[in-house]
Amino acid sequence: MLHKSRRNFIKTAALAGAGLLFLTPKSYAVEKMQNNNSLKGKKVLYVYGGWSGHEPQQSVDVFVPWLKSEGAELTVSDNLDSYLDEELMGSVDLIIQSWTMGTITNEQEKGLLKAVRNGAGFSGWHGGIGDSFRNNTEYQFMVGGQWVAHPGGVTDYSVQITDKNDPVTKGMDDFKMHSEQYYMHIDPNVKVLATTEFTAEHASWIDECVMPVVWKKYYGNGRIFYSSLGHVMTDFEVTEALEIMKRGIRWAAESKYSPKETWVSPVYK
Ligand SMILES: [Zn+2]
Repeated sequence: MLHKSRRNFIKTAALAGAGLLFLTPKSYAVEKMQNNNSLKGKKVLYVYGGWSGHEPQQSVDVFVPWLKSEGAELTVSDNLDSYLDEELMGSVDLIIQSWTMGTITNEQEKGLLKAVRNGAGFSGWHGGIGDSFRNNTEYQFMVGGQWVAHPGGVTDYSVQITDKNDPVTKGMDDFKMHSEQYYMHIDPNVKVLATTEFTAEHASWIDECVMPVVWKKYYGNGRIFYSSLGHVMTDFEVTEALEIMKRGIRWAAESKYSPKETWVSPVYK
């Protein structure tokens, strides 16, 4: 930790109040662990709406109870005007969005981008952040990828875990999906954690194309986490698909509390 946040100070003060004035190495390790990738006490804004085929409303039932069980302080909104609320946007640690297509006003977009640049995390899956506001290129610059096709519609494909060291995908094996296989236009500076391979079946020219499925990146000081899995909520019945989102959400909520990670390695150099 480069600096002590107010929350950490409060936490430390509370521990001291409980009589734990001298932290043993073991309890220190536990506290440190709780500060890393924990949603406890984190302020999370959950915004849902847009095209109903991606089940934004149902997604609330999947993710909000879990976020609460993790100890997050939640604001749930079905209106992009939440991005206009400067006090809210200045205080959130993480924004989760499930909003496919639709339109965002310049002012709403400005509010969102400013909050993320200042260190709020931004996370979501499938079209909920990866195909949100097709006219807004700065928004797409933030996400790091934009959906362009899902050849064959709902199909069988596998997901390869390509980064076995990253905490989000650590210990995971490759797995299968029966869903839309997203073909995306990608920012080459994202850190790719999992991929999928296309065949020639529905588009001959993309045979053996390897496409990112899960990635992380920064936009300003804010952490961005994306997974293309989650066309419908039953996709999250695949254990790995749900676990990847949970771990990614925890990671993205840390921008304001953990040092910036660096990993950009130019792929075309
Ligand atoms: Zn879809």
